[in-house]
Amino acid sequence: MLNLSYEYKLKPTDEQISQIEGTLVICRQVWNYALRERKDWINSRKCPINAGSLDGEYIIPADAPYPNYYIQAAGLTIAKKLFPELKTVNAQMLQQVLRKLETAFLDMKRKGSSNRHKLNQKIARLHQRVTDTRKDWQFKLAHEIALDAGMVFVEDIDFRVWAKGMFSKHTLDAGFGQFISILSWVCWKQGVDFEKVNKDYTSQVCPNCDRHTGKKALDNRVHNCPECGYTTHRDVAAAQVIRNRGLSAEGRFVDIKEIAWGGGLTGTLNSLVKSQRDRKKKA
Ligand SMILES: [Zn+2]
Repeated sequence: MLNLSYEYKLKPTDEQISQIEGTLVICRQVWNYALRERKDWINSRKCPINAGSLDGEYIIPADAPYPNYYIQAAGLTIAKKLFPELKTVNAQMLQQVLRKLETAFLDMKRKGSSNRHKLNQKIARLHQRVTDTRKDWQFKLAHEIALDAGMVFVEDIDFRVWAKGMFSKHTLDAGFGQFISILSWVCWKQGVDFEKVNKDYTSQVCPNCDRHTGKKALDNRVHNCPECGYTTHRDVAAAQVIRNRGLSAEGRFVDIKEIAWGGGLTGTLNSLVKSQRDRKKKA
């Protein structure tokens, strides 16, 4: 079997040339108008209700339907009455222009939604990795603490309330509440006593003499007791108050100097009293 193909070269007359060019001009105008109409409609929906920008605002009624092919084709029929030059072009040809625009928009939309989907998946994976890494680190830290301590006391803080207050949402992001749960679980597994103690005034009471030293500004990092002269890092002092409360709740009293866990804190000896474990066994 043999396929023959033919190529023809048109040799239009000057009159035909101007007719073809006229048709192309009209087609381009219809295309541009219809494209503008779609973009304007989309942009008019993007404008946030409280912050419109000057060039982003269009006067398109809120209930105006999206100008799809059928609406634009109907619009074309009306436009022909207002602009007679539209009638110089074959009606099917102009409808074909509108149909092509529709296809172009649908392809763009499909591509856009698939890209958005991929991006969302990527973001979800990153969030998951952050969560996993944090959890992993929290387990390691909890093991480190439980390994070195005979008893663990923490402030009884409702982190949901905390997050609503001055510490804002960042506390929830940091997963403090999760860490406390992990710590209590690890302590239970290791046979370490874990207790929550009253959180009130832990940063104001002197761990050495129980005096209320008043509220400190957050940038004041030092506890300096006017009553007994005891001076230490404020976080260490607070940790010691928590320890005292925990021990007295357990019916014990403190006769040791350093017990606060101060991993990473400057100025602390990081000397967990390992004898606590033995002490507990003897008790
Ligand atoms: Zn004191």
